[in-house]
Amino acid sequence: MFENLSERLSGVFDRLTKQGALSEDDVKTALREVRVALLEADVSLPVARDFIKAVQAKATGQAVTKSVTPGQQVVKIVHDEMVHFLTGDEDPGALKIDNPPAPILMVGLQGGGKTTTTAKLAKRLKEKNGKRVLMASLDVNRPAAMEQLAILGAQIGVDTLPIVAGQKPVDIAKRAKQQAAMGGYDVYMLDTAGRLSIDDELMAEVEAVRDVATPRETLLVVDGLTGQDAVHTAQNFDDRIGISGVVLTRMDGDGRGGAALSMRAVTGQPIRFVGLGEKMDAIEEFHPERIAGRILGMGDIVSLVEKAQETIEAEQAERMMKRFQKGRFNMNDLRMQLEQMIKMGGMEGVMGMMPGMGKMAKQVQDAGFDDKILKRQIALIQSMTKLERANPQVLQASRKKRIARGAGLEVSELNKLLKMHRQMADMMKKMGKGGMLKQAMKAMF
Ligand code: GDP
Repeated sequence: MFENLSERLSGVFDRLTKQGALSEDDVKTALREVRVALLEADVSLPVARDFIKAVQAKATGQAVTKSVTPGQQVVKIVHDEMVHFLTGDEDPGALKIDNPPAPILMVGLQGGGKTTTTAKLAKRLKEKNGKRVLMASLDVNRPAAMEQLAILGAQIGVDTLPIVAGQKPVDIAKRAKQQAAMGGYDVYMLDTAGRLSIDDELMAEVEAVRDVATPRETLLVVDGLTGQDAVHTAQNFDDRIGISGVVLTRMDGDGRGGAALSMRAVTGQPIRFVGLGEKMDAIEEFHPERIAGRILGMGDIVSLVEKAQETIEAEQAERMMKRFQKGRFNMNDLRMQLEQMIKMGGMEGVMGMMPGMGKMAKQVQDAGFDDKILKRQIALIQSMTKLERANPQVLQASRKKRIARGAGLEVSELNKLLKMHRQMADMMKKMGKGGMLKQAMKAMF
């Protein structure tokens, strides 16, 4: 039985206790499992390889959030990278349908869901975009397919081109174009014939239709359950016809969705929609997060990790605030603040966000503060002993000299830091009495 990735990873990491950061070995071990899981989910080998490389670079050295396991953390990183992998610049659901009548060419193998998807999209265009749509079936070999489209059209209230026996696909396409122009339609959709497998005759036919219709969109409809085959089909159609997007059908089934990841990587074409059932409403725009979740089979690990991160930051802020209100603000606190400032884009950015800090922001600017100074200040604090950090009042001349030397800096710089610390401690105390501190902390964390 298919064991999902989260289970695999938690197995790998069971023996590891919590640790500060993901080591290269941890990541490697985890990614071996990720690779197997991807292949099982029908992701093609070269795609899996590229993907793993990208994740490896991202994950190594990343801090492990408290209260989640390293395994969970890796799953989160893998998930985020997968979403990134699947996301293009384009809005998947936005079809190019300006300049009426806009032709949309539907292509794919037989049984992939082409006719059903044509009707689903026509309904969507009608109801969501308020467009007048004309559908035409070009499947001259299968009268039943033409009938099927007509029946679906009647069901969803979308017109279909009248069937004329004996006409060739290219001629039907021409007729559809004329009818669409004359009838004032915004969009006309050409449902081409499918075959059981890719063959030259089929491709030549679709090419001819494409040349007549010059479609604004050429959507390939493929069965999402067919895994690697779907990717090969997509590659073939893209090479020969040139597609502008993919619709993955039967994603309501228990397919693993790996085809989606390969599809994007192999064809470079975006997945635009997914089919989620036989009903006419069972189609939706492509959401990378859902596919990523499905490939990983990870339930809600992503939200768990995100939540843990948030909670920890909130707890930290809350604890700090309680101490600051009592006038306790030591060097460890200052260091945390400085690190947070760097994270948030330097002094100016932070000060701008904190109410009541306007004056200080000015001093900071005048003193020529920047990230470099923040980092030097952190170095000074690092060079203090535990006792000194907790009780900066013990800092006398000899201690100061040692600390400055340890950081490779002048005592005058340490004095500036101490002065700033005193000012901040005073201000925190004052602010703590009003509700200002709470606001300020909220802005920071
Ligand atoms: P075509 O030969 O490519 O035109 O395929 P059809 O549109 O005739 O679809 C073949 C079968 O697949 C029909 O029974 C459809 O109802 C079904 N089908 C199409 N899309 C989906 C989908 O997204 N989910 C499910 N469960 N069935 C689908």
